[in-house]
Amino acid sequence: MNRDTVQKILIGLFLIACVLIGIKKFDVLELDNSQIGTGKVEVNSNVSSSRMTYGRFLEYLEMGWVKQVDLYDNSRNAIVQASSPELGNRPQTIRVEIPVGASQLIQKLKEYNIDFDAHPVGQKNILVTIASNLLLPVIFISGLIFFFQNSENFSGNGGSSPMNLGKSPARYDENPDTGVSFKDIAGIDEAKAEFEEIVSFLKEPDRYTLVGAKIPKGVLLVGPPGTGKTLLAKAIANEANVPFYSVAGSEFVEMFIGIGAARIRDLFKKASENTPCIVFIDEIDAVGRERGAGVGGGNDEREQTLNQLLTEMDGFKENKGVIVVGATNRVDILDAALLRPGRFDRQITVGLPDRLGRIGILKVHARNKPFDEDVSLVQLANRTPGFSGADLANLLNESAILATRYKKDIITKNEVNEAADRIIGGIAGSTMEDTKNKKLIAYHEVGHAIVGSVLRNHDDVEKITLVPRGGAKGLTWFTPNEDQGLISRSALLARIISTLGGRVAEQIVFGDPEVTTGASNDLQQVTNIARQMVTRYGMSNIGPIALEDDNNGQMFTGTNSDSEYPENIADRIDTEVCKIINHCEQKAKEIILDNRVVIDLVVERLLDAETIDGEEFRGLVEKYTVLPSKV
Ligand code: ADP
Ligand code: ZN
Repeated sequence: MNRDTVQKILIGLFLIACVLIGIKKFDVLELDNSQIGTGKVEVNSNVSSSRMTYGRFLEYLEMGWVKQVDLYDNSRNAIVQASSPELGNRPQTIRVEIPVGASQLIQKLKEYNIDFDAHPVGQKNILVTIASNLLLPVIFISGLIFFFQNSENFSGNGGSSPMNLGKSPARYDENPDTGVSFKDIAGIDEAKAEFEEIVSFLKEPDRYTLVGAKIPKGVLLVGPPGTGKTLLAKAIANEANVPFYSVAGSEFVEMFIGIGAARIRDLFKKASENTPCIVFIDEIDAVGRERGAGVGGGNDEREQTLNQLLTEMDGFKENKGVIVVGATNRVDILDAALLRPGRFDRQITVGLPDRLGRIGILKVHARNKPFDEDVSLVQLANRTPGFSGADLANLLNESAILATRYKKDIITKNEVNEAADRIIGGIAGSTMEDTKNKKLIAYHEVGHAIVGSVLRNHDDVEKITLVPRGGAKGLTWFTPNEDQGLISRSALLARIISTLGGRVAEQIVFGDPEVTTGASNDLQQVTNIARQMVTRYGMSNIGPIALEDDNNGQMFTGTNSDSEYPENIADRIDTEVCKIINHCEQKAKEIILDNRVVIDLVVERLLDAETIDGEEFRGLVEKYTVLPSKV
């Protein structure tokens, strides 16, 4: 029975319950009306005379004043016709409540030879009584079920329903048509090759077992988000055409001890019934985190879950065809046991794509989009180092959206550039009024651009603009020359010098008192680079010592704790950082002073046009630039 049917049935039950409540209400009304209708209750012409206690009623009986008795509600109520001298011998209709257990009443009525009649609760009434007794539980239970069904919808998986707490929430596809094949993946060739091998094992296992090869049980994909890990897993399922279980690690993280473990057990039970197959666990760090590492000494539920995962992966000693693919971007926090041979014994790093990779990925995502001839994917790839596959896909999608907005049939260079600017720099704001500030910003940006363009080891200027973007009032973009693999000392220095160029230009043109707060971001960047040169890359007089590791943990004291460096080391770092920055500031000053003429020229043009692209900029600069002394 699928979920929809269950829901319909529940809604049905609920409606029936409502109708029954209605009937019950209506029925009670009817009963009262019928009594009134018989004329037996002469309603309250005199309220006090229309009711009487049971004791008094018995007295009336003994006195022989009662003429007729009608019993209602299983003899719980009686309407009595009586006339007594007390009441002036007028016939009266009196209502009497009969206490429970007054079973001799009928006996007595017979004894006194009273005319009596019992009015049974009708057939319908019995049904109503039963129904109304059932009603509360039904409403309660369906309420509960609704509640859980809804919470299930919120969490997006079948896991939290009370019916299947211990069931695996994995989405399962027997003949997965994930729509992804290896040709949809670019830029991560090593990972692809590795996976192609796994596909061939799944297709023809004999070829491997014949030569005694064991196929890995677990493959761990390690890399930043958006680099195509999920895509790879989908592609192998599709290409090997084997059942595909996909689940996120976080879906095993539950509040109650044992549930996560039960789900893991269930997942692997299902998987081993359907071999060969692929089990994909995204964000495996959610379950696989090092044991005992949580706040407060660890988390029993998570540890149990992890232990269960370890057991299951050991369970299939000879791999009969369940291949577990895990994905994470935090391999450093995974429990070591998970990485031991026999479990996730293969680790594939899926890194950010390099330039060629980006071109490949852009081509994949450009396939179904009409681009104008002037759009160069190569140029776009040059502009986007550090972009993941997902970022690139997003970039092309943005440009398609922009083209639609401008009512164009094809996507032109303009849309692509605008999309790139948006993603790299943030949404554009409106340009400033022509004020002194605008002029200052123009000098600041041209300062960056000129200094950058005369330094030999610096990236080329891509464009200068006074259109504010993100938090910045103006921007100078440089085209990153090569991927950020290995960067030389002089390239780092050049970056510091050009970054300082903005502030230095302000200083020289407007004088110290006019310098603004606009350069704070630049200064932060400069300090960062200089500091890293000293503490990580051994590029200072302190020598080739790594004082910090990748995560800014401090290496020198041998711990990652917050403890300070020994004082003299901290001082020396600061001194070296200052030295580097001062030296670079000096260089920037020289360059700005040497090129004052061309700076004025470019600023004029920039104030006019608001944006100058690299080409035009180089044209303006070429004739006037003075090359600096070597940095
Ligand atoms: P991850 O699982 O590594 O976080 P995904 O596989 O979910 O990343 O990638 C998200 C999207 O980004 C994919 O659907 C795809 O459109 C795009 N993408 C990422 N990497 C690549 C790649 N190498 N080749 C082509 N497209 C990619
Ligand atoms: Zn700046």
